[in-house]
Amino acid sequence: MRCYRLLLLLWSLLLVLSGCDAASASEMRSAEFFAMDTVMSVRAYASDDAVLSELPALVGELENELSTTKEGSAVYALNHDGHAAMTDDAALLLSRALALCGETGGALDISVYPVVRAWGFTSADGSYRVPGSDDLAALLQSVDYTRVSLKDGTAYLPEGMEIDLGAVAKGYAGDKIAAYLRERGVTSALLDLGGNVQTVGKKPDGSDWRVAVQDPNGDGLLGVLTVSDQAVITSGGYERYFIDETGTLWWHIMDPRSGYPARNGLVSVTVVGDEGLYCDALSTALFVMGTEDAVAFWRAHRDFEMLLVTEEGELLLTSALAERFSPSEGLAYSIEVIDDA
Ligand code: ADP
Ligand code: MG
Repeated sequence: MRCYRLLLLLWSLLLVLSGCDAASASEMRSAEFFAMDTVMSVRAYASDDAVLSELPALVGELENELSTTKEGSAVYALNHDGHAAMTDDAALLLSRALALCGETGGALDISVYPVVRAWGFTSADGSYRVPGSDDLAALLQSVDYTRVSLKDGTAYLPEGMEIDLGAVAKGYAGDKIAAYLRERGVTSALLDLGGNVQTVGKKPDGSDWRVAVQDPNGDGLLGVLTVSDQAVITSGGYERYFIDETGTLWWHIMDPRSGYPARNGLVSVTVVGDEGLYCDALSTALFVMGTEDAVAFWRAHRDFEMLLVTEEGELLLTSALAERFSPSEGLAYSIEVIDDA
């Protein structure tokens, strides 16, 4: 009888303990850290904090491989020596980035870095300037991604050329974080890497994540997109810019053909798709292409959705995205759905 009672006691103790376990499993946990020049915040539905505590090191390691300014990174070595052994991540990102430079007809060009620097967009102290047109013409001689090569894990650059994977690095970091979380059993998470949003699964209650899209012409929101298991990545002129003494505004996304900040009718481009790297590359490239070419690119590919904001105050959306977009109340933009034909 005593033995039976003891067993019963142990059994109920076990129940209480496993009950505790279940309760701690059902929590949304968050982490915030600074990496890749931006604040990254991750919310994940996980049973303990351990899964999140590894993330700063994961992204830090990636940054140490990809940074243009950190001595010892694979990209830094390549830019300084003209050749360098790539880490696995650097090799993968470089080969994908080069392929995307080709697919976008050079609108994305990772070798535009010397031009970006001439405008002062690489320095943290904001010492921006408008370079002379002769200087830009000279620098453009060494902007050509087709001359960057990668063989057996070693990358090569001709004399005078330098690369920067900044237009795709955060998207790739998001893919790595999402894969890491999924491998550890996380089925629901929201990553915000400085405005680059990536989602894992849906919200714990089974509904889609709601992702706000910033208004490029103000502090407010354009509206909210509902997504699951996808990336929502925006490139906008409003993210980094300066105004020169004549009152002209110049931003950090370059047109590799001209050496000047891209001004082709768009003020922001939001790309929604399955892969962060692809969306990040496209958000930059479509911004450079401008409205007409961006729409033509979408019609030819259709493996992503997009939301364009034009200088004329129009908001253009692909039709599948229009169904998932709720504009903010009283939004002062005309909304147009891009013709599927
Ligand atoms: P952000 O990193 O601000 O979210 P993007 O993903 O659009 O924005 O990347 C912009 C960065 O990429 C710039 O700061 C610059 O270093 C680099 N860059 C600018 N123009 C181009 C271009 N046409 N192709 C490739 N990289 C570019
Ligand atoms: Mg980008």
